[in-house]
Amino acid sequence: MDCPDCTPAAFVWPEQPYTLCAYCFNGAVGNRWRRVALPDADAMDEIEEIVAFRDMPWERNWDHTETADDLRAENAQHGKYVPPKKPKPPKGPALAGEGG
Ligand SMILES: [Zn+2]
Repeated sequence: MDCPDCTPAAFVWPEQPYTLCAYCFNGAVGNRWRRVALPDADAMDEIEEIVAFRDMPWERNWDHTETADDLRAENAQHGKYVPPKKPKPPKGPALAGEGG
């Protein structure tokens, strides 16, 4: 992710959503960890699946303003494989089947 103070070089640990910049070591905030908001696990899996088909590591990025469909469109634009959307589980309780 981008460091808000210097470069696109901050590391994020998804298990504990904190970030640390490899260049400035979060100097602007007294070298303390910065807390970040991350997408939920399903959304993160979908994002990672899409960007994994990009050749170069620096192309495998995502910005919080981009949707999974935006990433799919970018893959298609650059001739990369576009993984299909996975069906979402139905919302609410399942309806009881009609008996005969
Ligand atoms: Zn920095």
